[in-house]
Amino acid sequence: MSTGRTTFTMIKPDAVKRNNIGPILAKMNEGGFRIVAMKYTRLTAEQAGKFYEIHKERPFYGELVAFMSSGPIVAAILEKDNAVEDFRTLIGATDPSKAAEGTIRRLFATSIGENAVHGSDSDENAIIEGNFFFSQLERF
Ligand code: UDP
Ligand code: MG
Repeated sequence: MSTGRTTFTMIKPDAVKRNNIGPILAKMNEGGFRIVAMKYTRLTAEQAGKFYEIHKERPFYGELVAFMSSGPIVAAILEKDNAVEDFRTLIGATDPSKAAEGTIRRLFATSIGENAVHGSDSDENAIIEGNFFFSQLERF
């Protein structure tokens, strides 16, 4: 069980295109998460490649980098007790067809690749990923 109070998320290009920023943010708020930092931005392919470097050897890496740089995203740091684990529960499984009823991916994702949201998988990665996007002055 994780103990950190923050996690990092992105609303991915598929969800932005489908006009689901508002409904997804509402789910995050309803799930008890407070917004610490937030920005609407677009990653270059180089930036997306660096963010997902951990997956470099996976067969889907090229497709993932192309998708994540295909349009704007919303990046955010979120706060709640047990943030990483509780947020992974709120978003559901990577593959939306396997995600539990009522989860963000079940509600808003269309495929295992275009799965609406990112959520950090550990406290350590939550810190690394938050630092990728936000300075201390951008956190409240
Ligand atoms: N992904 C993909 N095909 C796969 C597995 C993952 O395109 O077979 C993409 C998907 O967008 C996923 C991201 O790569 O969210 C990172 O994969 P990971 O296994 O870390 O899943 P997550 O932590 O996002 O649930
Ligand atoms: Mg992951």
